[in-house]
Parts: sequence; structure tokens; C-alpha cells
Amino acid sequence: MNGARREIELAEKYGARNYHPLPIVISRAEGAWVEDSEGMRYLDMLSAYSALNQGHRHPRIIEALKKQADKATITSRAFHNDRLGEFCGKVAAYTGKERVLPMNTGAEAVETAIKAIRRWAYGVKRIPPEQAEIIAFEGNFHGRTLTVTSFSSTPAYKEGFGPFTPGFRIVPYGDLDALKAAILPNTAAVLIEPIQGESGVRLPPDGYLAGVAALCAERGVLLAADEIQTGFGRTGRRFACDWERVVPDIYILGKALGGGVMPVSAVAADSSVMDVFEPGSHGSTFGGNPLGCAVAIAALEVTEEEKLAERSDALGWYFMAKLRTLNHPDIAEIRGRGLFIGIELKSPARPYCEKLMRLGLLCKETHERVIRLAPPLVITEAELDFAMERIGLVFAGS
Ligand code: PLP
Repeated sequence: MNGARREIELAEKYGARNYHPLPIVISRAEGAWVEDSEGMRYLDMLSAYSALNQGHRHPRIIEALKKQADKATITSRAFHNDRLGEFCGKVAAYTGKERVLPMNTGAEAVETAIKAIRRWAYGVKRIPPEQAEIIAFEGNFHGRTLTVTSFSSTPAYKEGFGPFTPGFRIVPYGDLDALKAAILPNTAAVLIEPIQGESGVRLPPDGYLAGVAALCAERGVLLAADEIQTGFGRTGRRFACDWERVVPDIYILGKALGGGVMPVSAVAADSSVMDVFEPGSHGSTFGGNPLGCAVAIAALEVTEEEKLAERSDALGWYFMAKLRTLNHPDIAEIRGRGLFIGIELKSPARPYCEKLMRLGLLCKETHERVIRLAPPLVITEAELDFAMERIGLVFAGS
């Protein structure tokens, strides 16, 4: 039995069956490329769902990891550590916010934001106890914890997991009038993905985000932007909110904050919101650990110094122009911002992803009919040409 087949069999025998991966076993990775256990190379067009904006094993981030690993790794928050302050300061500067609360995974950061919002609702906005409501959107994806799953509108994510956490209202994404009507005196916040990633790279109509921000400000409601997938240059701007000059009250961050190396997430907000937490009210054993902080500091430096947002913008236009030349009856729409692109099909996307894999290109379907293209932002024009050639082959013969 070859090594790859054995790996897959072991994972299927002993692992829980909560994923349906493509049949490739990655054993090495560098930059925009991965290699399987037989030495076959593939161009990574998924970037671990945008956790790898800086590319696989960026030398500077790996160096920061190794250096920190030789000093101190985890301290818990029972004590101070000598990297946490610098990390919080860097994220504060990057977001323009006053305070930062570090966690590990994206879903934990979303949970943290929800807790901050609820405390703010009762302590600052004076919503009656237990009545605070948060508005989220149809098609949202904010993670897999139970409270976050509670306000998902995707039946497969919820089936059999009830009872759910109350206190959420769902409105259509992109419809400002529906949002206006849904905001009530007990509305504490609007929680939004500025572009819905898992839902299939769904962009709201132009002007919508700015409209949402204006509405929130007018009605005394917090705006929380989940930039976990769209942040750190992914869409051609620092944050996807920047496309409409929107500054949310709360940034929820994750994925590429950990430089493709460690799970590092965070919530950033001004003191008027963040000071709702006092010692003992919230925490995480691993959140703010020095190893994660050191990695995230390097990840932010790479993101800024290598101008990943600008790269994503320029390369996004370049790649999108090429993709738009595709002419195939199965293609319903090609959309995106920067190097965050969805090809919506009229038929299931999985067979296309399997064909692309055989041609050396790794993509993954999302929501059945969308191929998401989100390569590491360090990818080159020549590598995008390589991708385009493979995509062209798969969509040839219309
Ligand atoms: N929020 C958004 C917008 C996401 O895309 C994701 C993951 O895909 C999450 C939250 C959850 O992040 P994690 O898987 O790190 O918990």
C-alpha cells in the first residue's frame, strides 16, 4: 500500500468523519506550493481558508517561531509575558482600536465579541436583562461553536445540535431596508462579514456596508465586523470594510493573524466597549501565549512590509481579467475582490475541484456550487498564469 493511501485509511479509520477532504496527503509546503507524500507539487489556491495569506512557512515567521520556542512558549494569563504587550500594541495599531483581547481560534474570537456586545448592551446601552439581541445575516459563517451555530442559517450546520442559544435575529444579506426594520430598542449589535466567504464569496451591493455602518451609528447599535477570513489584505485592502471606508466598532480577527503557523485570534475595540470585561469575566488558557504573540507580530510585519494588501489588489485585477475570459455554459458568475474570488457554477463544484487537483491546482468547493480561489498573497503573476492555464483546461470545450 502506498504511503498516501495508508494515511487516508488511517485518518478515515480513527478520525471523526466531520470533513470530506480531497484525496491528497500534504507532507511539505513552501510559499504558494504544497507537496504530497509522493513528491507531486500543487499550487495552493485555498490557503487554508485564508490562514496562509503570508504563504506556507514564511521564513521570517518561522524564524520568529523558532526564536520564541527557545525562550518561552506558554505562560497562561496568570502572569505577564514579554510578548503580549507588543502583540496587543501591534494589533491596536493595525486596527486603529484602543484595546485588544487575544484568543486562539476564529470562533472563540466571535464568542468573545458576542460576550462584549451583551455586556455593553446591559451595562452601557441599558437594555433590560436577558433581552439583548444581535442581528446576523442569512448565509453567515462565523465558526462552529454552539452559540455561533445557533444563528447559522445553514440547516446542515445545525441539524441535531439543539437546543440553541437565543438572542439572535437573522436578516437577508445586502438588504438595507430589511436591516432597518429589524433594528429594535433591544438590538445591541449587527454582526457582519463584509464579504461572506463560506457562503460562496458573496459580495453585498455597493454602498451596503457604508449604509449598515450609518444605520448602526444612527440607531445606537454596535457594528461588529468579522474580518477573520477577509482581513489582512485578503480582499486587496487591509480589511474588506476599508472598501467602503467603514470602521466598525469591533473587529473580529483570526486566520492570517497567526501567519499560517499558529492559531491566533483577537477582538479589537475601543475602551468604551472593551472595558466591559473585568478580571475573571473572560479568558483562555492559550490566548495571548508568547509563542502565538511572537508569530503574530512577525505575521503582521510581513503583511505590512510585503504590502500584501496592495499585492492582492493588483494581482486580483490581473487574475480576474483572465478568469473573465472563460466561456463555459456551467459558469454562472465570477466575482470577488482582490485575491478572494468565487466562480459560481450551475452544477456541483466538487468534480471541477477534483479535476483541478489532478492538474496540480488545489481548490475547494464551498456551498456546493462555488469554487473559491484564495491563494497565498505572496503568489506571483507567473504562478497565477499557471493556475489560469489549469483552470482554462478544466473549462475548455464549451
Ligand atoms: N468567521 C469567519 C468569517 C470564518 O470564515 C471562519 C472560518 O472559516 C470563522 C469565523 C471561524 O474560524 P475558526 O475556524 O478559526 O474557528
